[in-house]
Amino acid sequence: MYKVVIIGAGPAGLATALNLIKHGVTDILVVEKHTFPRYKCCAGYITAKTKKAYEDLGLNIDDCHYSLIKDFKILYKFKSRLKIVNKFLYTNRYIDRVELDDSFFRLAKAKGVTVLEGVKITAHNIDKNRITLSDGNEIEYENLVFADGTCGFSSRYQKNGKRNIAMQLTFESDVPEAIDIHFGVTKRGYAWVSSYGGITNVGMTDVYKSARDYKAIFGKFLQDLNLTANIDNLKSAFTPIGVRKPVINGNVFFVGDAVGACDPLTLSGLRYGLKSGEFCARAIAENKVKIYKRHIRKLKTKFNFMKVMLKVFYLKSTLFLGFNLFCRCFGKSVAKIFNNFFVNKK
Ligand SMILES: Cc1cc2nc3c(=O)[nH]c(=O)nc-3n(C[C@H](O)[C@H](O)[C@H](O)COP(=O)(O)OP(=O)(O)OC[C@H]3O[C@@H](n4cnc5c(N)ncnc54)[C@H](O)[C@@H]3O)c2cc1C
Repeated sequence: MYKVVIIGAGPAGLATALNLIKHGVTDILVVEKHTFPRYKCCAGYITAKTKKAYEDLGLNIDDCHYSLIKDFKILYKFKSRLKIVNKFLYTNRYIDRVELDDSFFRLAKAKGVTVLEGVKITAHNIDKNRITLSDGNEIEYENLVFADGTCGFSSRYQKNGKRNIAMQLTFESDVPEAIDIHFGVTKRGYAWVSSYGGITNVGMTDVYKSARDYKAIFGKFLQDLNLTANIDNLKSAFTPIGVRKPVINGNVFFVGDAVGACDPLTLSGLRYGLKSGEFCARAIAENKVKIYKRHIRKLKTKFNFMKVMLKVFYLKSTLFLGFNLFCRCFGKSVAKIFNNFFVNKK
């Protein structure tokens, strides 16, 4: 029997646990299906705000070998349209999240969070407040927090709404340090080529349509870039579009991607995941579910706006005007908007 059981030791799950400890709740168990260090399909870019959110929880990002990346270029249909002076986007040498997640995991353990690794939830009896784990154990809880991502066990309690697909391939290369953001490669998403310290990471996003052959689209993108890499190593994952139910049964919470706390337009999810964990922990500690519901309601308003932006931004006419007219004539203003809004500085 635990006061709080958390499913998933990603950023949202561990942020919930760390915040619970801050509030004096220590009777917590985190259940994680993988063992750390574990791979999570993610580019791991963090903005200044995400960096601060981690630092507020006690994680020194500089220790995870993160640094400010070079200025980036925006391209439309492979033609360079804008150069942006980067002031807030950080990455690590491997352009992934392995070290960041592992450091966060070790910090949580050092602060007293108990994590059961290599074990997953296999059944949930919501009426009896009980879960069954893959090791055969049955555990009772007072509060259950699902932090198991977009398509985890908890997705059975949510509407199967629209999702973004994001793919990435990382390989060794001698491409000089640069970050290029491409538009016009997928229908409603962007692509990136990021090179840093002998590693290149190529990725792309799109609003998911089952009929589209994403592997072929990715292969064509690599070909157009004149890059050679083994496409069999391509990794992909979904991110949610729009927020989901934050609480069911009064004591079962959803945080991070599991509640849809990921920006539908930029796919930036780390900061929103950490924040959802913070508010969920407060709601549990103060026994006021409405604290969490209010936070998710605010997020819903913000993301509804981003959903409209997602529709408008990727219209052919908007892309054409934006990249052929605005970038040429009002380049500085577009760069400012990008810096302040698009990459979620605000
Ligand atoms: C290709 C790609 C690139 C991205 N790039 C960025 C980026 O650069 N910056 C950014 O901010 N966001 C990015 N995102 C979004 C970001 O990855 C997510 O929003 C973020 O990982 C959400 O954190 P989370 O803790 O909710 O879920 P996750 O990080 O997915 O963690 C969920 C955890 O739950 C565990 N789990 C799942 N099922 C079970 C189960 N049944 N039992 C036990 N444990 C379980 C998983 O193993 C995992 O450890 C990207 C996403 C993708 C797909």
